[in-house]
This record gives sequence, structure tokens and C-alpha cells, in this order.
Amino acid sequence: MKYKVNDTCIACGLCVNTCPEVFRMNDDTGMAEAYAESTEANNDAAQEAMNSCPAGAIEEA
Ligand code: SF4
Repeated sequence: MKYKVNDTCIACGLCVNTCPEVFRMNDDTGMAEAYAESTEANNDAAQEAMNSCPAGAIEEA
């Protein structure tokens, strides 16, 4: 699954903590970004990150 982070991200870091295989902080924008597609091994964590984002900033791409 492919994700994207929109500009409502408040940089709380939760998605990075929940699924670092898919999400990371972008030092230039100060917001999270989805840098990799999720795999079978981390798809549940990626979905949890999306569903838990307090800003609703993560979308399936
Ligand atoms: S959980 Fe949502 S608000 Fe927090 S860093 Fe990730 S995308 Fe941004």
C-alpha cells in the first residue's frame, strides 16, 4: 500500500513511531512523509498509523 501525508500534519511523530518502515520526518518541511510503500510485514502498522493520526493527515495514495 502506498501512502501520502498532506499538509495538515502537525509533526507529532506518532506515525513515525508506529511504522518507521513507511513514515519518517522530513527535516526540510518539518512534517512527516511516507517514504516507502508498506509491505505485508508492516501493513497493519501502517494502517494503524493512518487511523491514529490526530490530524487525519495520512491518506492512501
Ligand atoms: S501522525 Fe499525523 S500529524 Fe503526526 S507526524 Fe504523522 S502525519 Fe503528522
